[in-house]
Amino acid sequence: MSPLKLKLHWQILIALGLAILVGLAVGREAGLFGVTFYAIFDFVGKLFLNALKMLIVPLILSSIIVGVSGLGSGNLGRLGGKTIGYYAMTSLFAILVGLILVNLIQPGVVDGDPKEVFGFSADVQSLEAKIGDKDGGDVVEVFLRMIPTNVVAAAAAGQMLGLIFFGLLYGFFITRLPENLAKTQSSFFEGVFEIMMRITDLIMRFAPIGVFALVAKTVASTGLDAFVPLALFFLTVVLALGTHFLVVLPLLLYFIGGVSPIRHYSAMGSALLTAFSTASSSATLPVTMECVEKNAGVSNRVTSFVLPLGATVNMDGSALYECVAAMFIAQAYGLDLTFGTQFLVVSLALLTSIGVAGIPAASLVAIAIILGAVGLPLEGIGLILAVDRILDMMRTTVNVFSDSCGAVIIARSEGETHVLQSPKLAGSAPGLSRT
Ligand code: ASP
Repeated sequence: MSPLKLKLHWQILIALGLAILVGLAVGREAGLFGVTFYAIFDFVGKLFLNALKMLIVPLILSSIIVGVSGLGSGNLGRLGGKTIGYYAMTSLFAILVGLILVNLIQPGVVDGDPKEVFGFSADVQSLEAKIGDKDGGDVVEVFLRMIPTNVVAAAAAGQMLGLIFFGLLYGFFITRLPENLAKTQSSFFEGVFEIMMRITDLIMRFAPIGVFALVAKTVASTGLDAFVPLALFFLTVVLALGTHFLVVLPLLLYFIGGVSPIRHYSAMGSALLTAFSTASSSATLPVTMECVEKNAGVSNRVTSFVLPLGATVNMDGSALYECVAAMFIAQAYGLDLTFGTQFLVVSLALLTSIGVAGIPAASLVAIAIILGAVGLPLEGIGLILAVDRILDMMRTTVNVFSDSCGAVIIARSEGETHVLQSPKLAGSAPGLSRT
């Protein structure tokens, strides 16, 4: 079998493995003719990421509109209720897994000055300038943006909650139009959606190259040294994310969805690897939709409603991470972690994970909000910066996987009996598996 005949997710996986080796070998400085490899990886990775991001606004808008207008008002309430219920439940499970492990392992409890033990990794001042002063009141700010004053500006600024809200209204009122107008509107947005999916197909042909560049760049700049002092924190997050990804979500898939988790992992291969390398659920959305619809066999009616919402609203991995990171920093600063404080951290982690965008490092802003609310200095974030990117890649993978599990479970509850039933279906998307 020639490499080009390999299924796409294998190609991406190989690219990922190679990227780790190459990234470690070349580091930040090595180059050819005065150009560092790092700069080349950066350039190629950005091109790939830009291409995916280019699709986000038209994709979210068209799929929400198509999803809602196709549902009709009675179904909208039911599907909406199930979706929100699933998202809230899994995010809470994730946070609790994180909370239990961070209390058991206590990665932040050390002898001596935490700043010296863990080492500040990046320059905290620039971080502070970027994040500003945050406190609990900023949670309100995040949700205020849900109703944008200018929908075009919201789209341009990447404020997806606002765009989703507008899309929900737009789709709903299509169903209230006279038939001739409703038809024109729906078929227009169906066309936009279809075009976005086809462009996704095209972009994904370049995924192995894009993933290689993104991961090689991260490894080249992070190296392995950064992990040593933070090993216990890193391990706590990885264990917690792993438990949610490999135990909690598969159990839900099996017992509530009645489907084989293994088949679902295999159906989602390309999306999970894209999430890992881009660290952005929004950028991964086109691929997630393609995998869930074509590989897992979920109807467009469910995917086009559940997934765009999920990419913005449902972030299990991020919620878990925010909780563990805030608790870790609190432990490092020797804060007394009463039940009240822990409850506040859990509630804020849940709320902010809904509000933050599906872009790289978005959780840092949420953690800043949580730290402000429990009265810890913002510079605490400096402790975790060195390992944030790699953990971002992992939590984004969990975010995307949870969205996809939601789509499957909801589809099954809506009577879609064929979802993930045929072993041949998984991995058979025309665009995604070029066998
Ligand atoms: N990068 C994450 C995502 O896009 C958000 C975060 O936790 O920073 O899902």
